[in-house]
Amino acid sequence: MNKHTSIDTPGHCLLCNTATFKVIHQKQKWQYRQCKNCGLVSISPIPDLQALKETYRNYLPKSRDDITAWIRMMTPFNRATARIIEKNALTEKGKILDIGCGYGSFLKEMQQRKWQIEGIEVSKTGRKHAREKFGIELFDKSLEDLALPDAAYDVVTLIYVIEHILDPSEMLKEVKRILKPGGLLLLRWPHTTPIVKLLGQLANRLDLYHTPYHLYDFSPSTIKKLTGVCGFENIKTMPGGHTHPPALFNRMSAITFGYLDTFIYTLTAGNLLIPGTSKTTIAFKPA
Ligand SMILES: [Zn+2]
Repeated sequence: MNKHTSIDTPGHCLLCNTATFKVIHQKQKWQYRQCKNCGLVSISPIPDLQALKETYRNYLPKSRDDITAWIRMMTPFNRATARIIEKNALTEKGKILDIGCGYGSFLKEMQQRKWQIEGIEVSKTGRKHAREKFGIELFDKSLEDLALPDAAYDVVTLIYVIEHILDPSEMLKEVKRILKPGGLLLLRWPHTTPIVKLLGQLANRLDLYHTPYHLYDFSPSTIKKLTGVCGFENIKTMPGGHTHPPALFNRMSAITFGYLDTFIYTLTAGNLLIPGTSKTTIAFKPA
């Protein structure tokens, strides 16, 4: 990413508009700064968005082994997400839009459950795989360029997407517009900052923010604030569940932390979330 040019970061926090930050992580010229008022973590300077867009067109691994490993990793999560949706959505079988659907395995899961599916994916590899392997045709335009109709979807999902978006509030307002009244938004997002703080210097070597791709790192409180200002209600964050990363160590820690997170969340009746593991947030458009 060295060839990236970048633009100056706005001096204020996206969420609370205050202007005092603490640098918590640095990688080359990129800093991750935490707002001293609301806790939102954001990158500075902002990477060249045109260059990032180009990168996302070639973002996903192309080899068959990598794709198989990735889909295997996501399968338990796809099923858990489908169950959350069927439990919480207005209708048990409706119309769903998945934004940033990768290889399409989550939409395939929803299609098998008799949902009407649509998806957006900028990666050519992702669209090709979804078409050839699952018979799913995905949109290749961005959400704003598609200009989808008002109140068209029962559910919209953004799985590992929101941290990549420069103006997440603009995107979530657009999502709210295309959702039916009472419609469900589901976000899955990495919760990295507590781990970065815990690991200190070691974190710099691990590239946990996937610098400079993650423009933000959210927490349960900042994600609640973000979805709230965009007009969503009944916002609830829960453990993201575990995935199956291909490398053994990653798999062990993902399963251990994923289960531990879910276990403690259940044990404390939803009052305690372990930081550092991915989270799932659901929120509703007012009916
Ligand atoms: Zn703030």
